[in-house]
Amino acid sequence: MQNPFENALTQLKRAAAVQAFPEAFIRRLSEPNRQVRISIPVEMDDGRLEIFEGYRVEHNNARGPYKGGIRYHHDTDINEVKALAFWMTLKCAVTNIPMGGGKGGITVDPKKLSKTELEKLSRGWARGMADILGPKKDVPAPDVNTTPEIMDWIADEYAKITGDASGAVITGKTLANGGSEGRGTATAQGGYYVFDMLRKKYAIAEGATVVIQGFGNAGGHAAEIFAKNGYKIIATSDSKGGIVAEAGIDPKALESWKKENGTLAGFPGSRTITNAELLELECDVLIPAALESQLTAENAERVKAKFILELANGPTTPEADEILYKRGIPVVPDILANSGGVTVSTFEWEQNLKGEHWSEADVFGKLKEMLEGEAYLIHEKSVSAKTDLRRAAFIVALERVAKAMGY
Ligand code: NAD
Repeated sequence: MQNPFENALTQLKRAAAVQAFPEAFIRRLSEPNRQVRISIPVEMDDGRLEIFEGYRVEHNNARGPYKGGIRYHHDTDINEVKALAFWMTLKCAVTNIPMGGGKGGITVDPKKLSKTELEKLSRGWARGMADILGPKKDVPAPDVNTTPEIMDWIADEYAKITGDASGAVITGKTLANGGSEGRGTATAQGGYYVFDMLRKKYAIAEGATVVIQGFGNAGGHAAEIFAKNGYKIIATSDSKGGIVAEAGIDPKALESWKKENGTLAGFPGSRTITNAELLELECDVLIPAALESQLTAENAERVKAKFILELANGPTTPEADEILYKRGIPVVPDILANSGGVTVSTFEWEQNLKGEHWSEADVFGKLKEMLEGEAYLIHEKSVSAKTDLRRAAFIVALERVAKAMGY
């Protein structure tokens, strides 16, 4: 896989080539403020001691406390976390929430751990990071393979160490432990608001066909929300492979199928395909919602979608961006398309700090207004600067961060 941090820096340079920013500012953003690596010893169920590597990268806090999820994945390393932290700085600026950018992770395949081991590992991460976390300092959240229950464990461990039981140190918690209404579906819901605002600019009709790579939190909920709004989901996938059904897939039925069978394969009325084939299917809208570097120089020429909505972080490499831009295929960048998650996370933080609990209607009402406004602004910027949506979003974000840093 390509180095995602290198890709992030290339994206930064591409945007800065369209609109000039002070060189010192660009150099400052090219390195995170702080990178923390810890060893997390865990006594496994069989009595063995295993030592895992954990990370927290605090990229920039000019606009507010560091904010960003924690990823548990066997391929997670410091370069991936650095890239994700950098994107968080820009994402929070794009949505104009009062947060900076951070990200965390552990190199681990959580599917190989028992629940007890997973809890020990998560509490170990919290203990190792307790000094740098805090509601006014650094506020993590879920990402790939981390759940509301894991957020609860971390909030609890932090409360034991510091005495701060407000829960505002971490977001994406269960409702019973101070989570926000709507957080579970916020990324997908936000992506839909952004899509619905922009699709009209690119002549994507209501009821268009949709392909989704990744049937997890972001992708699975997107499937449901797009289907509910009349779109036809014709293919989706998980780490084991994908399925396609031209007649359309009922996401709820597919979710039950996956729960029962542990795989998407064999879903009635579908045939199996590889993840590589899925990305090249004939469709109107392609939603990468799995991992980074999926659309590359190798496959971008063969992509047949008319519109790409990045729910995953970093799914398109800079080389693929160039190809897709030349081919006239709009790519709604991750920092805008998937920013619903961090926005509702910030609502959760605000509710915890104020001791409030907002209704789902309030949460989604605010989210819709914010994301539609920012999507409109970024499209306008792409037109006035004669550039793609990613560079336009970067420019809007960079302007805001530069201002906060006094450039
Ligand atoms: P998740 O763990 O719930 O789901 C990931 C999905 O991708 C799973 O279905 C998994 O099987 C699948 N997958 C893994 N490897 C794959 C591969 N090689 N090919 C195809 N599918 C593969 O994670 P998530 O929270 O849905 O996150 C997915 C993406 O969305 C990530 O890039 C994440 O950073 C981004 N994101 C998530 C949120 C959020 O709130 N959950 C917010 C912003 C961005």
